[in-house]
Amino acid sequence: MSTAPGTSAPSPAAPARAETAAEAEAGHRIIESGRFRPRWVAEVLRPGDADEVASIVRETARRAAVGPHSPLHPVSTGRNWGLGSGSPVEEGATVLDLSLLDRIRAIDLRAGYAVVEPGVTQGELAGRLSGSERMLNLTGASQHTSVLGNILERGVGLHRARAEDLAGLELVLSDGTFTRCGWWPDERSDHADTVQPHGRGPSLNHVFTQSAMAVVTAAVVRLLPRPEAVRVLPLTFAEAELPAAVDVLRSWTAQRLIPATAKIYNPVAARTYGVEDRWLVHICLTGDPGLVAARSRLVAERVGGHGSPFVAAPPHTADDHVHGAYAGLPDPDDTLFRRKAGCCARCLDTARGLLMFLPVVPFDGSAVARASELIATALEGGTAAPGVTMNVLDADTIDHVVTLGFPPRDARSVDDAHRTLDRLHRSFAAAGHHPYRPDIDHPLPRPHGVLLQRIGRVLDPDGVFARGRF
Ligand SMILES: Cc1cc2nc3c(=O)[nH]c(=O)nc-3n(C[C@H](O)[C@H](O)[C@H](O)COP(=O)(O)OP(=O)(O)OC[C@H]3O[C@@H](n4cnc5c(N)ncnc54)[C@H](O)[C@@H]3O)c2cc1C
Repeated sequence: MSTAPGTSAPSPAAPARAETAAEAEAGHRIIESGRFRPRWVAEVLRPGDADEVASIVRETARRAAVGPHSPLHPVSTGRNWGLGSGSPVEEGATVLDLSLLDRIRAIDLRAGYAVVEPGVTQGELAGRLSGSERMLNLTGASQHTSVLGNILERGVGLHRARAEDLAGLELVLSDGTFTRCGWWPDERSDHADTVQPHGRGPSLNHVFTQSAMAVVTAAVVRLLPRPEAVRVLPLTFAEAELPAAVDVLRSWTAQRLIPATAKIYNPVAARTYGVEDRWLVHICLTGDPGLVAARSRLVAERVGGHGSPFVAAPPHTADDHVHGAYAGLPDPDDTLFRRKAGCCARCLDTARGLLMFLPVVPFDGSAVARASELIATALEGGTAAPGVTMNVLDADTIDHVVTLGFPPRDARSVDDAHRTLDRLHRSFAAAGHHPYRPDIDHPLPRPHGVLLQRIGRVLDPDGVFARGRF
């Protein structure tokens, strides 16, 4: 195990948000791109395998049973940028960094699953699947983010919600016991496996996603069949056409002309793809080449039809890197991510200021236009207009990724960005649109629901695990 011992320092009084990375390091805090109020951490532990995780949990449980202790905050690769990265919600936690648990324990191409540990990145798993009949449902984040960490966040993949990729979990409970839930391959049988994501009997996987009730040391992750053809159609539309464009996309999605995976980029986010002053849409069609060609023709006909809000965009606005991401290809240089983030995964937390707000909005033109107004009116002080990416989740729901960028060393800009974030939380809550993933400054209120309280008391009676965001 490798450790980065820190001091169990007392809570400082409201420290400035614009603390530099060097200061943060010296004070044993997690350096994170959001420049949230820094949290003191007691220690950062880096166990090398699942057995070490269990002994750390047992030792913490022993201390918790007799008195004050530092609760554990597990992270996989800790790249939860904009929401707090690897930082805990409360002061004094011990960060359990699981990035050294990085084995791909198994891959079964026929059954369509991989068993991965927390440190396995999406780039590594995509690389292992290269040229095979299966692919990973990649996200738009860096290739160096964790497959398991993103699933535990219930993140959004390019083809479906990452929660749908989950089949089973290996857990260390608060007393150090190992257990499994969901579906796992039968290691004693020679028969072919059939993945059953909900397992048999009560389905427990999602007690442990968006949760802080156990440490996850491995997961069974479902793999998608690799499509024979992948085609991303780029379309643009003018600002004034936002409600109409959203309604057309909604109707195409509801009628299955296109899959429920379209992405809409506001003009700030669209610049990443070489589009100026217009909104951009990426529609990804996959599968049999004939079907992809036929659907492409149909979409082109509708785009060119009378009253259409859309214009077909040039091919460079959905280039090979974009196609590669939808095709589940590894991108060892992280090209697409670097383009979006403006730096590499390793330097983002220190070099960039970045906050994320992730509300879920009805897939409806007027609701999306109203959300766009709320974003524009929330901007405080010198906060720059944010990049907004909207991910279609199904025919009724579209999540918004609002990315606030700011210079991280300028105290006033940091403060303006955080006041903007607070306003976004307030105005979207008033409109009934809540974020599907909160940040460390806006955790879900506790307690929420008698059932969850009871489950929490049974699973972690002594508070071995630190309070999470959910
Ligand atoms: C340009 C850009 C694009 C992005 N695109 C996307 C996108 O398309 N989709 C998307 O979902 N996100 C996206 N993100 C957000 C974010 O970077 C990813 O969600 C990332 O995968 C989360 O970090 P991670 O994988 O390191 O998980 P971690 O930070 O390690 O884990 C996330 C959380 O899960 C819990 N957890 C993690 N591991 C464990 C464990 N082993 N046991 C118990 N609990 C655990 C903890 O609460 C932790 O805070 C993007 C970010 C940027 C900057």
